[in-house]
Amino acid sequence: MAEENKKKAADDMPDWSDYRGVMIVVEQRAGKAASVSLQLLGEGRKLADKLETELMALVIGHDVRHLAEEMIYYGADKVYVSDAPELKDYRTRPYSRVCLQVLRDVKPEIVLQGATATGRDLAGAIATHLPTGLTADCTILDVEPHPSRLLLASRPAFSEKMLATILCKQYRPQMATTRAGVFEALPRDTTRTGEVITVENTMKEEEIAAKVLRFIEETERFNLEDAEIIVAGGRGLGGPEPFKMLQDLADALGGVVGASRAAVDAGWIEHKHQVGQTGYTVRPKLYIAVGISGAVQHLVGMQNSDLIVAINRDPDAPIFKTANYGIVGDLFQIIPALTAAVKEK
Ligand code: FAD
Repeated sequence: MAEENKKKAADDMPDWSDYRGVMIVVEQRAGKAASVSLQLLGEGRKLADKLETELMALVIGHDVRHLAEEMIYYGADKVYVSDAPELKDYRTRPYSRVCLQVLRDVKPEIVLQGATATGRDLAGAIATHLPTGLTADCTILDVEPHPSRLLLASRPAFSEKMLATILCKQYRPQMATTRAGVFEALPRDTTRTGEVITVENTMKEEEIAAKVLRFIEETERFNLEDAEIIVAGGRGLGGPEPFKMLQDLADALGGVVGASRAAVDAGWIEHKHQVGQTGYTVRPKLYIAVGISGAVQHLVGMQNSDLIVAINRDPDAPIFKTANYGIVGDLFQIIPALTAAVKEK
């Protein structure tokens, strides 16, 4: 946009000068912050610095006061904490009540949260009660500084073929949810200091219709999004059996097994292992793609990994363009040899 047009667009906008700051709505479970929230604090820090404003965090739950300090260590200047027994487990009404109370009092110009099941529910519930919109599932965030202070929230559209940048010109706050794994958390800095503000929970248990009877925890907790090493298999494996071979390599490396959609759709492995547009977005330290061709819908889920190794018998497989290291050959020979070499170390 030419400078003149930009200025005109900013002049046409309402005066939002009483809305300032970037706020991250933190997701936590049993007193532990979700990694997507820490990643958002890292990204939020950049946006707040560009806008020369504060980065705030909102923590809701029970026995979560210790998280305020943690959020400051990860980049927040100010943390709002609502800690009450009624807020122990996530429920839409009491959580959205606290959020709305804080957003109306504090008036942040930007509100961000993870596009997790909880984040999607909460962001939607908040947006319907505010005169604003919500851009869901973003993968890139930026801001246009003075004078418009617009959030440029980009998300894949048309099966990842396009990137749509969505602006919220007429309303505040500007709200977005973002995928896990696309942004980077700042290193935990225990020398950082900030302000902690207590927010009362005004909703009593009698007013909350939904009751949480119990949570069913998986005995073997599988967390693809937070894994540091992922060994992912695709259609090249040819069936469910070879996934045991990948599991052996993942175990030897201290990692977990991921998969392409082709392998999931074939019923060889559960959907919770799927990486990509309709699966999880991951950014491990090491991603080994085995028998995966490198379709764009797979790449969007893993291209931010620190180190990518691809094993494929087709030297022209597109995955080699994204990989840091490529091994051309038959996976049925390479994987057992690799596993044996790792175990020997
Ligand atoms: P293929 O493309 O069939 O590749 C198999 C590879 O294995 C080939 O490169 C082949 O050379 C290699 N190979 C075969 N045998 C061997 C061997 N013995 N040794 C070594 N290499 C071997 N895909 C995802 O992964 N995740 C998503 O979330 C996702 N979402 C999608 C959403 C939409 C809307 C659409 C339209 C598609 C989506 N897809 C997704 C599907 C995607 O387009 C591809 O079809 C899929 O990723 C292909 O999986 P693949 O690489 O395992 O299989």
